[in-house]
Amino acid sequence: MTSPLSGLVVNVAEVLRRVGNVKEIDVSVDSDLLELGDDRVATQDVPIAFHLESTNTGILVCGTVSAAYSDTCRRCLADVRDTVTVAIGELYQREITDPDAYPIEGEQLLLAPLVREHLLLALPDAPLCRTDCPGLCPVCGADKANPAEADCGCAVGASDPRWAALDALRADLDDR
Ligand SMILES: [Zn+2]
Ligand SMILES: [Zn+2]
Repeated sequence: MTSPLSGLVVNVAEVLRRVGNVKEIDVSVDSDLLELGDDRVATQDVPIAFHLESTNTGILVCGTVSAAYSDTCRRCLADVRDTVTVAIGELYQREITDPDAYPIEGEQLLLAPLVREHLLLALPDAPLCRTDCPGLCPVCGADKANPAEADCGCAVGASDPRWAALDALRADLDDR
């Protein structure tokens, strides 16, 4: 059984010995060890599966990471609970020649920064509770997804002078 910490600090002495050498990492780490600093991701076990392979330029690290997160739907403000899964393919180098590469320090490479950066980038900026969430009525705030509130009776769009102006503009453009 691999301890969580050894899954984040990987000894690659054997991998570095020859081009083509590989190493498999398959661990579950406490998300606190990743120091995500993002309260959308609650403390949980994060499964990490990586394939390391020594190449001419460094060690290629490929695999996937996934984590559950919670957020607020940007249209209706309902709770959103989902899981992000990120596919990762990055290079680690002893002497950095690729500006995107991560460092190999001595005979060790650190997976935490790699996992942290990719997970944070994968979290959606504008989450939706479902892709076709109708959102709230902009006039009265009724929840359009709730059958009891969907017919709030507000005239949305047609009576909005901003839309009327846009429609006129569009008709004008179509005429040309
Ligand atoms: Zn929603
Ligand atoms: Zn309404």
